[in-house]
Amino acid sequence: MSELRSAVLQSQSLLSTLFRHEQTVYAQASQSAACMAAHHVEARLCRWLLRSRDLAGSDNLQFTQEFLAEMLGVKRTSVTLHARTLQQAGMINYSRGQIQITDVEALQDTVCECYGTVKSYYQTLLGPQTA
Ligand SMILES: [Zn+2]
Repeated sequence: MSELRSAVLQSQSLLSTLFRHEQTVYAQASQSAACMAAHHVEARLCRWLLRSRDLAGSDNLQFTQEFLAEMLGVKRTSVTLHARTLQQAGMINYSRGQIQITDVEALQDTVCECYGTVKSYYQTLLGPQTA
């Protein structure tokens, strides 16, 4: 930590980047809290999958239902139900912790607006390469 502090003191660019990152994390946390309170589990699952796809740069993700349930703040049975719905709609293939996104456009049509809002925060504050 002292090395980071020392580097920040010598670089306005690094300080600016860290400040913008902090703003982005705060904005994302605020949006996530609102999302948990206001949006349906299926839309939040779509958000989680799309954001994970963005960060991983891949349509193939590895998440157990237990992990997804924890991240979404719901019971595992709820994840099972909604993952099955997305699979039956042709948006994903889901088997034993392996998720393949098969229809990005349909997921984007189903996701709540929080996905676009958070993505916009990242693009605005940190640049397009982070979104
Ligand atoms: Zn939302």
